[in-house]
Amino acid sequence: MIRINENFSKLKASYLFVDIARRVNAYAAANPGKPVIRLGIGDVTEPLPPACIEALHAATDEMARRETFKGYGPEQGYAFLREAIAANDYAARGCSVAPDEIFVSDGAKCDSANIQEIFSQDARLAIPDPVYPVYLDTNVMAGRTGADKDGRYEGVRYLDCTPANGYVPEIPSGPSDLIYLCFPNNPTGAVATRAQLTAWVDYARRNKAVILFDSAYEAYIRDPQIPHSIYEIEGARDVAIELRSFSKTAGFTGLRCAYTVVPKSVMAADAAGGEHALHALWNRRHTTKFNGTAYPIQKAAAAVYTPEGQRQTRALTDFYLGNARLIREAMKKLGLPCVGGDNAPYIWINTGRDSWEFFELLLHKAQVVCTPGAGFGRCGQGHVRISAFNSRENVVTALERVAAALA
Ligand code: PLP
Repeated sequence: MIRINENFSKLKASYLFVDIARRVNAYAAANPGKPVIRLGIGDVTEPLPPACIEALHAATDEMARRETFKGYGPEQGYAFLREAIAANDYAARGCSVAPDEIFVSDGAKCDSANIQEIFSQDARLAIPDPVYPVYLDTNVMAGRTGADKDGRYEGVRYLDCTPANGYVPEIPSGPSDLIYLCFPNNPTGAVATRAQLTAWVDYARRNKAVILFDSAYEAYIRDPQIPHSIYEIEGARDVAIELRSFSKTAGFTGLRCAYTVVPKSVMAADAAGGEHALHALWNRRHTTKFNGTAYPIQKAAAAVYTPEGQRQTRALTDFYLGNARLIREAMKKLGLPCVGGDNAPYIWINTGRDSWEFFELLLHKAQVVCTPGAGFGRCGQGHVRISAFNSRENVVTALERVAAALA
């Protein structure tokens, strides 16, 4: 009989959000008169910006006419979108990224999952704890880790993010090859300063390592001192790949559009010591396994960079940040220490008790769903994540209920 990839058997049994849904559904079924407010899953709630909708309609009409119909497009994305990204997200911030170093895709989830394929099987991993689970699980599936021992996979260097380091991991003392960093962070909402990112770039350069920098929440940065891109750091073009998404920037979680930047100067070695540009490998992988993001979706993404698109997406992220501010203030009033929410749509609360116990308390006493931090890694224990993605009305009601429950 054909055999399975047994690396899948190493994965932890239940996906966090499945576990949460099971508990919430059981509670809702037993308490039909008590409506639940979900501040757990990180999905947006507000509709798409009008500029994107207009572009989507216009592009759909183009698809309806023989003269303007589009079939397969370039796998890496249309030039109009890659050029808009290079100009607005990079050149405007003083970063040099060429349009052909940008690979448009249908999601940062897929990109952050797929990128590990271009590295050797024995690449030494450095992964934050707590973490967006995709980075870890895809390396487990690929066989780059050992078994799960007490909640941690053997062979992974975990980068602890704790109250002591402000949830920004310290530089490890030993070497690593593949380093995953995410700022503004999911789940903690923490941001990294220029000095902290410089230390990581220097570490990667010393170790001839590669940083995978996930900046899916870049659009939420408001502090002018915080870098938006890893390429704002000197030397990063030689050691960093950057992932971005239109999901949280412009509400594209249902439309699907993201991109990955692989500078042509990032090199890695083969077994014989020969050097290879990762750009060529990723281009080969992307064009072999992906057939391009839909034309109307890329048109909608390009509309984000028009003056109206910029105004509308700013209003959207401002709205969620307004929710985040209310959540942060309410937690402070309750005496619960928290980070995030000022440059990110997530608030990470140090509850001072077991994170599933706190989750159950909020569900049963306030009918509010949060995400237990323990589900993101061992260092998440004692914490919960509250998401600012919801209507203002729901956030205000949820906070009133939480205050009453914890009083
Ligand atoms: N990266 C991080 C850190 C995320 O939190 C998310 C979504 O929650 C993603 C990537 C996925 O983004 P996309 O919707 O583009 O797949």
